[in-house]
Amino acid sequence: MLKVSNMDAYYGQSKVLEDISIEIKDGEFVTIIGANGAGKSTIMKCLMGIHNPSRGSIIYKGEDIAGMNAWERAEHGIGYIPEGRRVFSKMTVEENLLVGAYTVKDKIKIKRNLERCYEIFPRLKERRNQKSKTMSGGEQQMLAISRALMIEPELLLIDEISMGLMPLLVTHSINLIKKLHKEGMTVLLVEQNAKKALEASDRGYVLETGRITMEDSSSLLKENEAVIKAYLGA
Ligand code: ATP
Repeated sequence: MLKVSNMDAYYGQSKVLEDISIEIKDGEFVTIIGANGAGKSTIMKCLMGIHNPSRGSIIYKGEDIAGMNAWERAEHGIGYIPEGRRVFSKMTVEENLLVGAYTVKDKIKIKRNLERCYEIFPRLKERRNQKSKTMSGGEQQMLAISRALMIEPELLLIDEISMGLMPLLVTHSINLIKKLHKEGMTVLLVEQNAKKALEASDRGYVLETGRITMEDSSSLLKENEAVIKAYLGA
């Protein structure tokens, strides 16, 4: 479904991604684990068209999307949950969800997706008219996930679902993503919480200072000594 080849990226003079090649097959749940500052968010921003790679190709469903902006990528079925959730704080819950559907023209589809989000998270329905800045961190996470679901994505890009959430909410969020994956969604999750990410996913990549250093099934990565030492603790 997605094939990234030989991608480099810079911020100014500083090279933060080097020769990144990753592949995600239709229906897979893939993770990229890595430490703070390894370049995980930058990969996601390049995939979503928010940051421009200096080299490499991004092929999505057989089409080169490297020249498309974020809007066009969403129209092609790529959903994105950014790091730190980034909900529109002055807007209500429902306004946030409707903004999430900005590329969807069909009003019936928008209504259906809105109802589906409210079905998954009844808390959001109760609070549909509440300004999102007054929501708790966990509620904002529900909103960020729901906002991405408003386009019915085929590929969902998730940047650090665990960030700033208490362990129980991390488990809830990951379980929800697993459920969406079981229902057919292809998922790419970048995570610092390697344990949770490797438990949930089929396959994983290890990113170290902008380079992919390992790739394997998640079950084998979990047992790999170097991964255990660097990312999973003793
Ligand atoms: P974290 O897990 O801490 O979010 P990350 O793996 O997502 O880290 P990135 O946010 O992709 O890492 O950052 C990779 C590198 O690029 C870091 O050294 C970071 O300081 C740098 N960087 C990120 N954004 C910018 C920017 N807008 N301008 C300059 N440097 C940046």
